[in-house]
Amino acid sequence: MVAVMLAVIINSFVMAKAEDSKQKEALSAACIICNIDRSRFNLENRSSFKTHKTIRHHLFNYFDFKYRLNKKTHLLSDLECWVQ
Ligand SMILES: [Zn+2]
Repeated sequence: MVAVMLAVIINSFVMAKAEDSKQKEALSAACIICNIDRSRFNLENRSSFKTHKTIRHHLFNYFDFKYRLNKKTHLLSDLECWVQ
């Protein structure tokens, strides 16, 4: 009985770790805001992918902006409407 429970726990841990690494790989392969992948940044000589993800499309700033838009009760500006 203990062996079965241990196998279930280990299997759950392995599945959670695989899902976590899959999410990390997706986050490092493309910008999830504009959906441009890393290889396009390298080919088109734009700013680096790292700079894009840390300055232009910083994930925390984006979600913070979206959160604030959802909290707003007054009329939105054109930019706010476009983002929302
Ligand atoms: Zn982006």
